[in-house]
Amino acid sequence: MSKIIALANQKGGVGKTTTAVNLGIGLAAKGKKVLLVDADAQGNLTDALGFNEPDSLPVSLATLLSKTMMEEPCESFEGILHHHEGVDLMPGNIELSAVEVSLVNTMSRETIMRSYLETARADYDYILIDCMPSLGMMTINALAAADSVIIPVQAHYLPAKGMTQLLQTIARVRRQINPKLVLDGVLLTMVDNRTNFAKDIAFVLRRDYGDKLRVFQTEIPLSIRAAETSSKGMSIYSYDPNGRAAKAYSSFTKEVNALGSERRQARQHQADPSR
Ligand code: ATP
Ligand code: MG
Repeated sequence: MSKIIALANQKGGVGKTTTAVNLGIGLAAKGKKVLLVDADAQGNLTDALGFNEPDSLPVSLATLLSKTMMEEPCESFEGILHHHEGVDLMPGNIELSAVEVSLVNTMSRETIMRSYLETARADYDYILIDCMPSLGMMTINALAAADSVIIPVQAHYLPAKGMTQLLQTIARVRRQINPKLVLDGVLLTMVDNRTNFAKDIAFVLRRDYGDKLRVFQTEIPLSIRAAETSSKGMSIYSYDPNGRAAKAYSSFTKEVNALGSERRQARQHQADPSR
């Protein structure tokens, strides 16, 4: 049973892409089959995994979404690249901008990515979608395709209005398109331990958005090494295995993987007729 997780926040530069790389490779290190999907026209995820010219790739997410829109079949593993640390990648690039525009006039415009991922789903344990910093059609498609959402939040800023908008969008997608969509939680990123911001932000999130909003136990520390990895084509585990950011991403990976087991146990519980 696979799980599709969208990493979403319309605020830019909060650590969505860095989390996609290090959660994805973290899960792969636990023996999971992982597909990372670059749903951002900037192609940062593709670039961060060492495919440095995303715009010159012959096949990308844009190609497969266009095919899906035209009701053309996609071959299995078509356009999927492999990274040496054990994850697969569906690359993204500038062509996604054009696809996002054409989605507007397409029938079932919110569920094109879901239809595409349905074809890939059977081959993976986890599919992580790295969203772009907007709440446009591509992000709505990611939320419509996902089983759950993780929201990375940069710990220097109080997430005021932006967070409300994001949670409203998630709630609308759940009501109108994807009733199963679960909010896994908020991940605090770039936490500077010299300040109390992270504690304040976790407090404000819980105060303003209720106990229902899980804030993950793990906080990702502010780390120059983590920032450097984006240009190295590798994960933090390879680049700085003993550093604090590697340890944090490793324990975050455990938390996310445990959510998967919670779900399995809940299903078994429901399915067990003796209860
Ligand atoms: P965008 O919204 O543009 O897609 P994003 O949310 O995907 O951005 P990232 O690209 O992951 O955010 O991170 C933004 C910048 O912060 C990058 O330069 C990245 O290298 C850096 N960065 C990410 N995590 C950390 C960290 N823990 N400590 C320091 N810098 C970090
Ligand atoms: Mg990004």
